[in-house]
Order: sequence, then structure tokens, then C-alpha cells
Amino acid sequence: MPAKIIIAGEGGQGVQTIAKILTKAAKKSGKNVSYLPSFGVEQRGGVSLAYIQVSSRPIPYPRFSKADFVVTLSSRSCETIKNFISDNSLVIYDSAEIYEKDINELKAEIKRFVAVPAKNIASEKLSTKVANIIILGVLSAQLKDISFQDFQDTVLMELAAKIKIKPELKELNNSALQMGAEFAQNYESSDHLTGKSPDETVRSFENDKVKWTRFPEYCKGCSLCILSCPVKAITFAKDLNFLGTPMPIVDMEKCIGCGKCMQICPDGAINVEKK
Ligand code: SF4
Ligand code: SF4
Repeated sequence: MPAKIIIAGEGGQGVQTIAKILTKAAKKSGKNVSYLPSFGVEQRGGVSLAYIQVSSRPIPYPRFSKADFVVTLSSRSCETIKNFISDNSLVIYDSAEIYEKDINELKAEIKRFVAVPAKNIASEKLSTKVANIIILGVLSAQLKDISFQDFQDTVLMELAAKIKIKPELKELNNSALQMGAEFAQNYESSDHLTGKSPDETVRSFENDKVKWTRFPEYCKGCSLCILSCPVKAITFAKDLNFLGTPMPIVDMEKCIGCGKCMQICPDGAINVEKK
């Protein structure tokens, strides 16, 4: 069975760049691929769409009505992709770009999702220009038939001309891809895809040297704390906070109390106290 992927967003969000890199990486991994872009309406101010299929077998027709992976990058595109969602779809959305009310309307249809605040991660850690590559990284972690190395090589190939002029783009895009993939892995390890009910009651976690406290009412699930922890003590918990975004949880057997998570959190949602 082919993997059917639909990506939707506004012009300038890099929808077609994600699609092109994904298509070329799949070919590099020896897969059959079809890619059908939809630019016309976007140029007139509509939503930009890309239909992609990846398969080990020949692909008879590039269009489809239901997708295995549905990627939505803007509030407006949520309406466009609604009809492509089935019970088996995994919906990946940029939670920093989409209004809560729009995603909540979709939630009735969604069984499995990854809420990635790509724009925030990009602007706080890298550059807003690579938010789409973070999304590609999240997708790369789901599309296990395509090797991560092929994704990495294709990103660099696709951007070769730009990298020649600005060599710093190489590291920037590489990091963005890795961050997206790591984000998805943390999400998976938290079993978050099943969408469990919230438990905001546990706030503090302790070992004999450190007290680590989270404040769910401030946390928007950006994952910067997870990415900053030198000992990988933080993951996303099964529970969602009231914003519908995941909450971090800490493994106190690993935590060394360095305070990096507290320092990096843009929302003051973590406190680390040494005893
Ligand atoms: S605690 Fe702070 S850094 Fe961590 S996910 Fe929440 S908002 Fe982001
Ligand atoms: S205090 Fe340091 S070691 Fe502990 S969770 Fe935060 S970043 Fe990780």
C-alpha cells in the first residue's frame, strides 16, 4: 500500500519545498513516487496544496480522496484538508500557526495527531525560514521506508545553490530536519498519538538534589525544554494541557538540576530548584 500524503498551507510557508524534497528523498530511497502540486489557486491568494504518494509498487493515479498523512500549516488550510482525514490518518499541524478554534473544530475528525509548534521552534532556536524543514523532519520520522540520510542529502542538494551563497544555511537546515525528527520521536515515545485525557495535577518532581516543577497553565508545548536538556531527561507526557498541546514530564533519575530547561522556556513554565 502506498503512503498517501497531503500537505497544505499558505503561499510562502514552503509547502512545495517540503513536497519536492520528500519526493526526491523517496526516489533516492528506491521508491516509486507521485507528486501533484496545486499552485494556481495559491497564486491568487488561496491555499497551496501538494498530493504525494510513496510506494514500492507502481502508482496508477496521483490523486486520492483520503490520506495517511495530512499536514496542515495554517488555519485556512484546515478547512481544505478536512475531507482527506480518515480514522487512520495521522494529522501533523503547526500549532504555532493555527488558531486553537480551527484545530478544535478538526479534532472531532482526528484520531491521531502531532501538534508541532514549528514556527516557534524555528524562530527561537534557528530561523523562521526553516519552519517547513522542521515539519519535514516530523514527516521523515513517520515515513520509515525513506532513510533519514536520504532526507538529509536531499535537503542539501535542493538548497545547494542557496548554500553556495550563504554557507550557514547548511547547518541551519540540517539542524531543523534533526529537530523535527527528534520532536516526532519524543512525541511517539510519550504515546501521545492516542490523545489521552489531561492530568495537570502533578506539578513537581523531585530527587534528593533537585525539585523540578512545571506550570501547565503557561506551557504551550514548544518542546524547547526537551531539546535543551543535556541528559535527555524531559519527554512529552501522555496528558495534554488545557490548550490541547502536550506537557513536558521529567525523569528525575536522569535530571542533574542544570536549569537549562528553565532558562530556555520562553513562557516561564518550568522551575528548577536545587535542594
Ligand atoms: S515547558 Fe516551556 S519550553 Fe517546555 S514545552 Fe512548555 S513552553 Fe516549551
Ligand atoms: S534541569 Fe537540566 S537536567 Fe534537569 S530536566 Fe532541566 S535541562 Fe534536564
